[in-house]
Parts: sequence; structure tokens; C-alpha cells
Amino acid sequence: MTDAVLFDVDDTLCRYRRTGDELLAAAFEQTGLEPFIGLEEYHDRYPEFVDDSDSMTDLRERCFAAIAADKGRDPAAGRRVAQAYADERDHGNVEPLPGLDAALDALGDLPLGVVTNGAPAMQSEKLAGLGLEEAFDVVVHAGYDAPAKPSPAPFREALSALDARAERTYHVGDSLDSDVAGARAAGVGAVWLSGDAAAEPEPEPRPDHTVATLAELPSVVR
Ligand SMILES: [Mg+2]
Repeated sequence: MTDAVLFDVDDTLCRYRRTGDELLAAAFEQTGLEPFIGLEEYHDRYPEFVDDSDSMTDLRERCFAAIAADKGRDPAAGRRVAQAYADERDHGNVEPLPGLDAALDALGDLPLGVVTNGAPAMQSEKLAGLGLEEAFDVVVHAGYDAPAKPSPAPFREALSALDARAERTYHVGDSLDSDVAGARAAGVGAVWLSGDAAAEPEPEPRPDHTVATLAELPSVVR
């Protein structure tokens, strides 16, 4: 017997149609600057700037300003590129991951929830872009409505809203560190969406179930 199913959003329900490379190229084009930041460099440096109090846009601005300064450029140029990057990103321009529609059809009679680490406005645009603004009975924006995953708190908030018991609820997500760890901390069944990356044979923390695509989810949950 299953009381409810919870979902992560990014890289679980959907992904952006435009890649980071495409956005970065568009951002440089928008500013008229010669491209001086590569995506890999951005991703490598980004963790240095992570700070709970800032928005993603602020973090990216600080990161791009630092990369610019390191290259002997005006940090303001880095900030302009970061602003253009944010302008170019359309959070509603997402595509569903394979198996999403089939999974939601098969599970539609159960209470369904979302537990996502992400700003409410941004995550709402994604759900609207998928045509799923009405599909979930509760959406918990962890990091905003509750502490961020892997804290068990946002899972408990969803359970309480759905009147579901942890041991009869599943959470599916692509991140071992936030989804699997958080679900386990809350006593919820952890379903890891491994994607097609030849699934790690011994994922840590250990999920209760591993699925390659959402199409496999109904057989796990039922
Ligand atoms: Mg995710």
C-alpha cells in the first residue's frame, strides 16, 4: 500500500531545453563581449561562491566577476555577462524527462507532491512549462518553505500536507546527496533516478530502489 509519491523537479521531472553552453554563448552575444568564460570554468569555480543567503543570479555574478578579474578584465564585464545569462534563461523552457507522462498517468490516483530545492517563482515556471501546475497536491520549496534537502524537514512538510505516512511514501529524485539522503533521513522510501549514466553499482547513500527512467516508477511504487 502506498500513501503518496513525492518528486524532485530538476533532472527528475524535467530539464532545460537550452544547455548552459547555449546560454553562455547567447549571453556573450547579448553583451557584445568576446567570449572569455567557458562553461567548465564556470562550473569549476561556482562552488567557491555558494552561500545560502544569495540568489543563484547573485552567485553567478560574483563568480563571473572573479573569473573576469583573474583574466585581467574588468569585473563589471563579468557581472554584465552574468546578468545577460540570467536574462536568457527561460525557466519555462523545459522538457519532460522520458517516462514522465506515463508515470503520472499510472500514479494519478495517488496523492502526489513535489519536494524541490529551488526558488518558488523559478520552480513554478518549470511546472507551468510542463503543463503540470495542477498535477501535484503539494509543492514544497525546500530552502524557502523549509530547510533545503537533504534535511528531512521538507519531506515531513509534504507528508503532513498529504496526510501520508513516511513508511508508505516514496520520493524519486536524481541526486544521491539531496534526494536519496533526504528521503532516507525522513524515513521515506528513496527511489533514485539514475538516468542512463551506467548506474553506479554501489550508490551512496543507498537508495531503496533505482530506476533508469520514470517509466519504471509505477512498478516500484505499486
Ligand atoms: Mg534534481
